[in-house]
Amino acid sequence: MNQQGYTILKDKFGYSSLRPSQEPVIESVLNKQDTVGIMPTGGGKSLCFQLPALLNDGLTVVVSPLIALMHDQVESLKENGIWAEYLNSSLEDKTKDLVMEAIETNNPYNHENDKLQLLYISPEKLFANDNYILNYLKTINISLFAIDEAHCISSWGHDFRPEYSNLGVLKTEFSHVPIVALTATADELTRKDIVDKLKLVNPNIYISSFDRPNITYTVENKKDGFQQLFNFITARKGQAGIIYCLSRKSTEELAQRLNRNNIKAACYHASLSKDVKDKAYDDFMKDKVQVVVATIAFGMGIDKPNVRYVIHWNLPKSIEGYYQETGRAGRDGLPSEALLLYNIGDVFTLKKFIDQGQEDNPYLSKRNVEEFRRMQHDKLNRLLEFCKTGHCRRRVLLQYFNEKLEQDCGNCDSCLHPKPKIDGTIIAQKIISTIFKTNQRYGSTYITEILVAGKDPRIQANSHDQLSTYGIGKDMNKILWQYYINQLIDLGFININYDGFIKTLTLDQSSIDFIKSGNSMELVAYVDNKPSKPMKTKTGELSDLNQLQTKLLEALKSMRKSIAEEQNVPPYIIFGDVSLVEMVLKLPINQDQFSTITGVGKLKLENFGTTFTRLIEEFCDSNPDLQAAVEHTPLPSKPNVKTDTISSTKELLDQGMTYQAIAKMRKLSESTIISHVIKLYENDQVSESIVTKLKNPKINSILEEERSNGVNYVMLSQWKSHLENKYSIIIDYNELKIALL
Ligand code: ADP
Ligand code: ZN
Repeated sequence: MNQQGYTILKDKFGYSSLRPSQEPVIESVLNKQDTVGIMPTGGGKSLCFQLPALLNDGLTVVVSPLIALMHDQVESLKENGIWAEYLNSSLEDKTKDLVMEAIETNNPYNHENDKLQLLYISPEKLFANDNYILNYLKTINISLFAIDEAHCISSWGHDFRPEYSNLGVLKTEFSHVPIVALTATADELTRKDIVDKLKLVNPNIYISSFDRPNITYTVENKKDGFQQLFNFITARKGQAGIIYCLSRKSTEELAQRLNRNNIKAACYHASLSKDVKDKAYDDFMKDKVQVVVATIAFGMGIDKPNVRYVIHWNLPKSIEGYYQETGRAGRDGLPSEALLLYNIGDVFTLKKFIDQGQEDNPYLSKRNVEEFRRMQHDKLNRLLEFCKTGHCRRRVLLQYFNEKLEQDCGNCDSCLHPKPKIDGTIIAQKIISTIFKTNQRYGSTYITEILVAGKDPRIQANSHDQLSTYGIGKDMNKILWQYYINQLIDLGFININYDGFIKTLTLDQSSIDFIKSGNSMELVAYVDNKPSKPMKTKTGELSDLNQLQTKLLEALKSMRKSIAEEQNVPPYIIFGDVSLVEMVLKLPINQDQFSTITGVGKLKLENFGTTFTRLIEEFCDSNPDLQAAVEHTPLPSKPNVKTDTISSTKELLDQGMTYQAIAKMRKLSESTIISHVIKLYENDQVSESIVTKLKNPKINSILEEERSNGVNYVMLSQWKSHLENKYSIIIDYNELKIALL
C-alpha cells in the first residue's frame, strides 16, 4: 500500500499500521483481484473493504446479512468522518428515499464536500422489487463489492441464507468489479462454496491464523456453580461479559439470581419477544447491563468489541461451538477470558439430546440419522477431551482446526498451572508403530486391543498377533492406552479419518518425524478423576493498572458514556477500550499527543480531543502521583532497530555472501541475519537479484506453484505445515522466510 493509504488509515481510522493479516488482503483488493479473506472474529475484517473504499473512486457496496451490525458499522464510519449509508428492511420509507437520492445524485444530504463511499445493503434489499437496486447500481460507478459473512452462501453451514445464493449474479452482471469475500469460517468445504457460488475469478485466498492470543482459556470443575460465577464476575468489576447456558429456562433463572446479587444482568433467548430481545441487546451494547445470560441464539452479529469474558455455564456441543462462542470476547485485542464450568451432568444431558434428536428430520434417512448422531457424539467427545486435557489448551484447540502451534501458549490454565508430566516416549512409540504396522486402517479400540493382546477376534483373522507390537502394552490397562491415544490426537500426532461409518486413525507427518528423530515426548500423567483446584485466572494488562490509573480509566469511561448517550450510540463507537487504556498509559494533554492514540483520527481529534485532554490534565493536576506511577509502567515499546548492525549485513550481502555465511562470520544466528534481510528488503535497500540468490530453488518453485493455485497463508507456521504435509518434506523456517519474500 502506498503512503496515501497509510495517511488515510491514520486520519480516518486512527490506526498507525495494518495488522499482518490485513495487509495482503487489502493489497489484493487494491490490485482489483477477487479475494477471499478468512480471519477469526476480531481479526479486523471490516478494514479490508473500508480502507479500499476510501482509496477507490467509485462506490463500495457491502453485502451484509446482519441488520444491527450494519447500523453500528455505519454509525462508526460516520463518527470517523466517512460517509456511509445502509439500506435494509428496517428503514422507514422516508429515510430510504433519502439514501436513494444520495446514491443517485451522489449528493450528500448531510455531509459537506464529501461523497458517499460505502453502501451497506442486505441481500433481500438488493434483489427486492425485481432487482430494482441491483439494476440501478449498473448505472453508477461501483469499485468494489464486499461480501461480509460470506459463509452464509454455503448450504453446508448452519448460517445458510437462501438469498445469499443469488449473489453469483454480481460477477455475471458486473464482470469488471472485483469482489472481496470475508468470513471467519475456515473449513475447506465452505471456502470452496464461496469461490464457486460467487463465481470468483482466480481469487487470492488468504487464511490467517485462528489463534486468539488475547483470550485466556480456563476450564474449571463446576462445584459450587453460582458462587464460582459470582466470584468471577465481582472480581471483574464493570467489565462486560456473556454467560452461555444450554436451556432458555436457566438463562432466565441465572439472570434473576445475578440481579438479586446486584450484578446487572439481562437474559436473551430465541423465544423472547423481539422487543425484549432488542432491549437486552441495546442495553448490553450501551453498557447499561454488565452481563447477558443467553442461549447460543445470542451471538451472531454481536459486534461489541469490549466483551471482556465469556463464561460457559453449561458445556458447549462441540469445539467449533466453543471456539465461536468464546471468540466473542476481546474483539478489540485487549486481554480477555474464557471460562468453562465443566459438569459431568451436562455430558449426560447433551448425549441424551443427540440420541433423541433428528428423529423427525425429513431430510435424513434412518441410516443418515444414525450417521448424524454418531458425528455429534464424536464432536462432543473431542470437546470432552479438550476439557480434560492437561496440555496447553490453545494447542489442542488450534490442532482441532489443523493449525499447529510451535510452543505452549503460556496463557491458558494448563500453561499457568501445569499438571504433572511423564516421559511418554515409549508409550508414544508403541502406539504409533502399532498404527503404522496395521496400515493406518483401524480405530483406537482395535489398536488398544493389539497393544494389550486382547480378545478381539479380528486380531487372529488379520494375523495381527504376529506383529512385534502385539501385547507389548500389557503393563497398562485399556483405559490408560485410550487416554494416551487421545493425547496424541490432541497433540496432532495422530489424525482421525472418517470413512462412512468407520473411524480410523492415521499418522500425521509429525509422528513419522518423531519416530525418525528419536526425540523424547512428554505426556500428561493420568490422574484418576481428581477434580482440579479452582484456577486463579489471569486478567492481564487491564488489572495491571494501579489504583489511580483505574480511577482515571473509570473517569474516561464515564465521559465516553455521557457523550455516547448524548449521541445515542454505543460508547465504543466514540472510543474503544484500547484507546482509553492507551490514554491512561500515555496521559496525552495536548492535541498533538492525543492524535498519537490508537483510534484517534482527524475527526475524533477535532470532536473529542479537547474534552478528553482537559479531563486528563485536570486529573493529573489533582493526582500528581499519577505521572510518577506512569513512568514505572512499561509502555509497549516499538522494536528498537539497530541500524548499524543491519548495514553491516547489507555490506556483506552486497559482496555476494549468503546469509548462512554472514551469520557464521558475524557470530549471529541465521534468523537474525534473515530479519536484517527482510528489513532491508522492505526498505528497498537490497536488490531483488541478491534476495533471489538467497532463495532455495526447490522451495521457491513449490511456493510459486501453490500461489498460482490461489493458496496463501498469513502465518509462516501455516505455510510450513501445509507444505510439509503436502510434499512430505521438512522445511527450514529460515529458508521459508526468505522464499516468501
Ligand atoms: P472482525 O469483523 O474480523 O470481527 P473488526 O473489523 O470488527 O473484526 O475489528 C476488530 C477490532 O480490531 C475493532 O475493534 C477494530 O477497531 C480493531 N482494528 C482493526 N484493524 C485494526 C488496525 N489495523 N489497528 C488497530 N486496530 C484495528
Ligand atoms: Zn497454553
